[in-house]
Amino acid sequence: MIQDFHGKTAVLTGAGSGFGLECARIGAQRGMNLVLVDVQADALARAEAEMKASGARVLARRVDVSDAAQMEALADEVRQTFGAPHFVFNNAGVGSAGLIWENSVRDWQWVLGVNVWGVVHGVRLFTPMMLAAAKADPAWRGHIVNTASMAGLLTPPNMGIYNVSKHAVVALTETLYQDLRLVSDQIGASVLCPYFVPTGISQSQRNKPAELAGERLTKSQLIGQAMTDKAVGSGKVTAPEVAHKVFEAIEADRFYVFSHPKALGNVR
Ligand code: ADP
Repeated sequence: MIQDFHGKTAVLTGAGSGFGLECARIGAQRGMNLVLVDVQADALARAEAEMKASGARVLARRVDVSDAAQMEALADEVRQTFGAPHFVFNNAGVGSAGLIWENSVRDWQWVLGVNVWGVVHGVRLFTPMMLAAAKADPAWRGHIVNTASMAGLLTPPNMGIYNVSKHAVVALTETLYQDLRLVSDQIGASVLCPYFVPTGISQSQRNKPAELAGERLTKSQLIGQAMTDKAVGSGKVTAPEVAHKVFEAIEADRFYVFSHPKALGNVR
C-alpha cells in the first residue's frame, strides 16, 4: 500500500500528452517531484511549464525511449538529481496500422523500438536503483507502471505490430512482477491495459488504428461484445480517468489495470 506521494519522485515517459500528461498532473497535485520525458519538444515544454507552475520540482528531458544511450544518460541524471525514483511510468508509445504481412521492416522496428525497448530500458535502468533504495530503507516503497493496452490481451485486426508490442509489455510486466516477488515486497508492478483512449496515438495522422481498426474491430468475432459495446475512440473513457485508475492501482498494489468497465473487477 502506498498512500503518501508527497515529495516522492516519478519518472514519466510520454509525459507530453495523453495519460502520461494526466499522470504528471496528478503527480503535481500530490506534491511529487516529476521527471518528464518525451520525444516531442513542444509538448514536453508545455508539460514542463504547467507542472512547474503548479509548484512541482521538474526535470524535463527530450529523450527517445527506444535509444539505450539516451535512456542511460537520463537514468544517471535522475539518480543525481532526485535519487532512486519511487514511481516509473513506462508509458511512451506509438501506434501501428495495417495488415500484418504488409507492414514494413521500418514500421516493425519503430513500433517495437518505442513500445517494447522503451519499457525494457525503463525497467532495466530504474529497477536496480529502486531495489537498492528499498534494501537501504525497509519503509521505502516503489511501483513500476507499464502501459500496455487491451491490445496486449486481445488481438484486434489490422494493428498487428501494436498487438505484438503490447503483448510483449504484458509478458514483460508479469515477469517483472514475479521476479520482484523473489527479492522484495517493497516494489510493486502494474500493467495498464486501457480500452482505446482518444489520445494522440488513436488520432495520429501517420497511423490511424482507431479509424482503420474500428470498423473491423466492431465486426470482429474474436473480440466479441465485451469490446464492441464501447465504440473505438468514442471518448467515453478519458485519459484523466485512466490516470486516476493508475494511481488507485499503485495505492492498492494491484497488478492488472483495465479501463473497460466490464474488466475493471478483473484485477489481481
Ligand atoms: P497515449 O496517451 O494513449 O499513450 P499519446 O500519443 O497521447 O498516447 O502519448 C504518447 C506519448 O509518447 C506522446 O507524447 C509521444 O510524443 C510520446 N512518445 C512517442 N514516441 C516516443 C519516444 N520514442 N520517446 C519518448 N516519447 C515518445
